[in-house]
Amino acid sequence: MEMEKLVSLCKRRGFLFQSSEIYGGLNGFWDYGPLGVELKRNIKEAWWRDMVTGHDDLAPPPGAPEAYEMVGLDCTIIMHPQVWKCSGHFDLFVDKMVDCRESKKRYRYDQVPGRWVEAKGQKIFVTTAVEEHHEADLESRALKFFNLRAKDAGDLAWEGPVVSLAKIDPALYEKALGPDAKALGTLTAPRDFNLMFKTFVGALSGEEGAAYLRPETAQGIFVNFKNVCDSTRVRVPFGIAQMGKSFRNEITPRNFTFRSREFEQMEIEFFCHPKSSPQWYQYWRDRRMKWYTDLGLAGERLKLREHDKDELSHYSCGTSDIEYAFPFLPPGEFGELEGIAHRGDFDLRSHMEGKLVAKDGQLVVEQGPDGKPKWKGSGKDLSYRDDLTNERFVPHVIEPSAGADRGTLAFLCEAYHEDQAPDEKGEMQTRVVMKLHPRIAPLKAAVFPLVKKDGMPEVAQRIYRAIKPHMPVFYDEKGAVGRRYRRQDEAGTPYCITVDGQTLTDGTVTVRDRDSLKQDRVHESELVAVLRERIG
Ligand code: ATP
Repeated sequence: MEMEKLVSLCKRRGFLFQSSEIYGGLNGFWDYGPLGVELKRNIKEAWWRDMVTGHDDLAPPPGAPEAYEMVGLDCTIIMHPQVWKCSGHFDLFVDKMVDCRESKKRYRYDQVPGRWVEAKGQKIFVTTAVEEHHEADLESRALKFFNLRAKDAGDLAWEGPVVSLAKIDPALYEKALGPDAKALGTLTAPRDFNLMFKTFVGALSGEEGAAYLRPETAQGIFVNFKNVCDSTRVRVPFGIAQMGKSFRNEITPRNFTFRSREFEQMEIEFFCHPKSSPQWYQYWRDRRMKWYTDLGLAGERLKLREHDKDELSHYSCGTSDIEYAFPFLPPGEFGELEGIAHRGDFDLRSHMEGKLVAKDGQLVVEQGPDGKPKWKGSGKDLSYRDDLTNERFVPHVIEPSAGADRGTLAFLCEAYHEDQAPDEKGEMQTRVVMKLHPRIAPLKAAVFPLVKKDGMPEVAQRIYRAIKPHMPVFYDEKGAVGRRYRRQDEAGTPYCITVDGQTLTDGTVTVRDRDSLKQDRVHESELVAVLRERIG
């Protein structure tokens, strides 16, 4: 599937729009249209229901070491600035960027692909701004730089594979041709760029009033751990879920909604005894993977990737990503949908003691030049006492952290299909159909009168009203029925119900299945039950 087709369908049918489009849009910000908002809400509701409200607190789900409880939270986007100092985001939530003095553009240096090439006795590191087919652009830029013609491509001596600028010693940047530059050596040395959006609370404008839009929802859960323990009767092991907006000032937002500056997360912090944490980590990895496959992200485009030891954060005993082969990525590459991390006791301890760093294999409070904690914790006791065993410990945390927007994008990519279907005249035409799982489809059914006369619209409207209290349904009487089917196929509506001449005599309607195109007759009185059963 070509990404352009999906992007254009999303705009044409109202799944996704560029934010503030009439003013030219704002890079990294996206709006969900009338169909998109329903799809995303359904995904978030499926997550909340499957993880929280629908969870059976009394019996262990398959693969879980024991039964556990789940509760939810809804915390603020702006929190006390000390939260981000202790969590490490203030010091460490950075990407390296380079600026180009010639083009005035800014790049994330690990996202600038390039390759060493030699011609006419000069060796340069040529880079590209294109996201796909790097080789072709690198060649044409190198030819241009060396003033060679396409037929002289053989004069270019390439060295080594395509690598990111991050792999190049900054001392060699004088030999680098920036992605949008004509001259060599225009890139600055890499600098840290903190991804947190800064704002000011109240009338204070200096550092005193400085605060941050949360870059993740997780910290709201950690700082409320004690509140939840004290106000409910949850016992370890238990999980706290939260979904909501997060903000990251990404240097290069791209790939549609995949890397946005404002996005929604769906996170769980699962608190357990340190001894059983490896089993819980395994459980959550498998549980979260199954959630995606159950909703239709099956097959080789979805994979679970366990991080290598050297990829792990200093506090993590294990992390895996659920990844999807998005069509905008080069073949064989996958993009992260969700990370499942074993975080040990890092987070709760940070908020008790202060920002932690790894030293000789241990987590210790980082000290400032004065020998005091660099960023002081809350000093509150966030340990847990098991009232059955009397043991007191700081729970370990397993964190499944998902992105609602990346999830929505993956479901949209997976759903897009083109096939052949007959039109009104029986001629085969290419049909675009969004094969969304019925549970997340924006509309579950559409009701049409075959023609706008003979009392058919009245019957169809009666049927529409009978279904409406049970599920989202759409009524359409405009244009040829074939066109109406096509519109619903593009919206991903699983069932189309048509009132025809026979309905007026025996009360049955046709129910057309979006994927198989099969139609069968169902009596009007049984429609809700039949749809419910088919949608599941
Ligand atoms: P990446 O490496 O792609 O930047 P990350 O590892 O920083 O992602 P996490 O901090 O683990 O991401 O965030 C958890 C989830 O939040 C991600 O799996 C993703 O679904 C979502 N997410 C993170 N950053 C963005 C973004 N800029 N736009 C959309 N979703 C995002």
